[in-house]
Amino acid sequence: MALEKYFLNYNDTIASISTAWGEAGIAIVRLSGPQALDFAEKVFKGIKPLKETPPRYMRNGFLVNENGDHLDEVLGVWFRAPKSYTGEDVVEIHCHGGLLVASKCLELLIDQGARLAEPGEFTQRAFLNGRIDLTQAEAALGIIRAKSDEALRAAARTLRGELSIKIAEIYDLLLNLSANLEANLDFPEEDIPFLPSDEVLKKLNQISTNLKRLISRCNVGKVLRDGIKVAIVGRPNVGKSSIFNALLEEARAIVTPIPGTTRDVIEGMIVYKGIPIIFMDTAGLRATNDVVETIGVSMAQKAFREADLRLWIIDGSEALTQDDINLAEELKTHPHIIAINKADIPQIVSPDDLREIAPDSEITVLSAFDKLAIEKLKERLVNKLIKHSAINEGFNATARQIEMLKNVLSCVDNAIASINMGEPEELVASNLYEARYYLDRLLGRNFDEDLIHAIFSQFCVGK
Ligand code: GDP
Repeated sequence: MALEKYFLNYNDTIASISTAWGEAGIAIVRLSGPQALDFAEKVFKGIKPLKETPPRYMRNGFLVNENGDHLDEVLGVWFRAPKSYTGEDVVEIHCHGGLLVASKCLELLIDQGARLAEPGEFTQRAFLNGRIDLTQAEAALGIIRAKSDEALRAAARTLRGELSIKIAEIYDLLLNLSANLEANLDFPEEDIPFLPSDEVLKKLNQISTNLKRLISRCNVGKVLRDGIKVAIVGRPNVGKSSIFNALLEEARAIVTPIPGTTRDVIEGMIVYKGIPIIFMDTAGLRATNDVVETIGVSMAQKAFREADLRLWIIDGSEALTQDDINLAEELKTHPHIIAINKADIPQIVSPDDLREIAPDSEITVLSAFDKLAIEKLKERLVNKLIKHSAINEGFNATARQIEMLKNVLSCVDNAIASINMGEPEELVASNLYEARYYLDRLLGRNFDEDLIHAIFSQFCVGK
């Protein structure tokens, strides 16, 4: 691949502070590229130069400026290409914490000729040097962003290459099938062992099943990383804020007996069994003339649309109204759970009453004041989107990767349909060809500058 075409500065030496900004015990400045050692040597003075120090061996020394003044006592270590994070020569200088020293160190290296690294450029180089593939590079980003242990494990699983292996397996199966089909197409007179179409169909169905499983594992990973957004909706005064607070175990929203007090969308996040759940408490969805409340209602509608899941609260102690009937209608096409609230006081509305207007909905009865019921509600919300047993199998996947896998799946399913309809083998072959194209893009074997830029620009500088 002619990488230089895309990346003009591919051969220079980059540097950045690789630890987080802020006060800390140490800060690490990292260099990568062919002149990493030369530049580092100019600012690092140990008993011996780094060049005479074995790779991966920490050498004690001083950070020095152009006049030879000692600025800090530091540690230096180098990694010889290709056995480094980026696949190039890498040097790390571990300074004492505080950004002042690390910034000074970086400045000195830039004076020597190093270039300030772009966001994600170290990981980008690892990818370009073939150390990791794109799914692994994106997992590195997942590790930085992970909000919970489970999300971290899913990212680590992907970084270790488990997702890539699964994808490569599917790729090879498709390649074998394509080779067979195309050989028959191109050389019909040759005596190539012919794969009967029911055999091809069997294999394709197997690939389709594998792909569906992979997509669901990636969806789990996405939920672990990005969390679930739950919009709490319903008429005013049914107990939305009370349930929001109970879910968050804190009094965040103002709970009052006056209808229409929540005029904004208030967000709060919890991590439940490793899954970040973002709750959005919305203004009551009802027709109103109050200007401020109207703004609240339109924000509530936005939250309603953007959520992964809606929690519809109903006041069980009051009769259903036209607003409820309207909401039930709207919810029919959106994933949701219904909670009949205020179970601690006499009830007028039963689950059966609700089934008349929402026949397919999952319904639970609870009280905002019942802690156990609130815990069970969290469980229900998570189960609605993913099964708990699947959490340990999640892959860190980005929306891009899931979209690519879905494209592959639709190509494979089209190929299956072609065979079933007795269409010419050329069509089957071209579907499989397209499927492989998407797999190539997924792994980064086939890419362009825009794709690479879109992925790596999400990283922080220094990674
Ligand atoms: P929102 O307007 O839907 O957010 O409703 P709020 O959370 O502000 O609650 C309205 C009123 O209902 C308040 O007086 C709450 O104390 C009361 N309330 C909320 N949940 C329950 C419940 O489970 N049982 C009882 N008895 N009252 C509740």
